[in-house]
Amino acid sequence: MSAELRISRSRLVANLAAVRERIAPSELLMVVKDDAYAHGVETIVEIALDAGVTWFGAIDPPSALRAKAVAGDRARVFCWLTLGAEAARVALDGGLELGVGDADYLERIAEAAQDTAVVHLKIDTGLHRNGVRPEDWPAFVARAAELERAGRIRVAGIWSHISEASDEDDDVARAEFDAAVATARAAGLEPEVRHLAASAAGWARPEFRYDLVRVGAFCYGIRSADGPELPGIAPAATLVARVTAVRADGVDIGIGSLDGLPSSLGGRVTVGTPAGARPLQRVGLAESTVAAWPGSAVGDEVAVFGPGASGESSATTLAEAIGTVGEEPVLRVSPLIPRVVVD
Ligand SMILES: *Cc1c(COP(=O)(O)O)cnc(C)c1O
Repeated sequence: MSAELRISRSRLVANLAAVRERIAPSELLMVVKDDAYAHGVETIVEIALDAGVTWFGAIDPPSALRAKAVAGDRARVFCWLTLGAEAARVALDGGLELGVGDADYLERIAEAAQDTAVVHLKIDTGLHRNGVRPEDWPAFVARAAELERAGRIRVAGIWSHISEASDEDDDVARAEFDAAVATARAAGLEPEVRHLAASAAGWARPEFRYDLVRVGAFCYGIRSADGPELPGIAPAATLVARVTAVRADGVDIGIGSLDGLPSSLGGRVTVGTPAGARPLQRVGLAESTVAAWPGSAVGDEVAVFGPGASGESSATTLAEAIGTVGEEPVLRVSPLIPRVVVD
């Protein structure tokens, strides 16, 4: 095998500890969408459960259902994609708690539930990405209270999502959120948890933490592109490729754009080799070329990103070089590349 995504259990556990310590007494809801940011949801959930994580969440039902299948009663799992009636029934049967940001969807869930559906109501605090608009919120929570009294649903949470792009916009969103929680309580709802922030605001701004913080990127050690360094947090995944040929003008490694390596990285970044950082000269379809180093040999390991070889880059460094978000280089790693857990 010439390439693999190597996941460090101890690094992941250390990141989870750093995040939980930072946000305490708020609790961590670990985001495992997109197959746990392409790390592999089953493996990640098992490690996190052993580390004491009790909440997981994903937008997509497949990641959420797979997380719940591993977690069973040891953790609650939240899923926030708006689903059709049949998919909602499958999600509820699978034990998921559902994010609801739409009045019709609330009815669909109440209808689909065999038992009481556990839901988290979403207020739109300005992102306009699903969520009940403030002007519709009073009627929405009144209807939710009615359905709760009838035993069709239980409102476990109130939540929203913010841009984390500007502190001012986030402050406006937070005021809107507080007003929505007050309105919900006045309507007779008693949500156990309020959650608003993801990695960036949850890390930097205590007043955004409420009861739960939905943290994805930072748990995996993925720093935001152009964001601050994070004490105690480091990448859990290393993308390793092996040398397949040594030529006079460069060393070929067995990974390319077909494996998810963005071809625009060619000529723009360095990778970690046994002799330190070397330029990644070119990304081909199945193989890429790294500047030669003395003594290079077929089978040598190169860290395309993540810790593991000297002079390595992080996924975020690569993302910054091509102007994308920090998690993209990881998310693009092909599912055909094996995920391997190491200590
Ligand atoms: C992806 C996502 C998160 C986690 O975001 P990170 O920046 O990776 O921590 C939290 N909440 C919602 C609604 C999301 O879609």
